[in-house]
Amino acid sequence: MNDSPTITCCPLCGGEKREGKTTITVEPGYGLFVIRDVPAKVCELCGADWIDDAALGIL
Ligand SMILES: [Zn+2]
Repeated sequence: MNDSPTITCCPLCGGEKREGKTTITVEPGYGLFVIRDVPAKVCELCGADWIDDAALGIL
């Protein structure tokens, strides 16, 4: 794994990633949880999102 300190381009469309929020769903096996306002990098062109590692740690 490499943790680049800079925000890289979107691998899908080459757009710029911006700091933002996203909504994710988690299925632990006994239901479905929707978690809103999760910190993430969001592509401003195609809308793809990448959840911050720190955010995954609190789930
Ligand atoms: Zn993109």
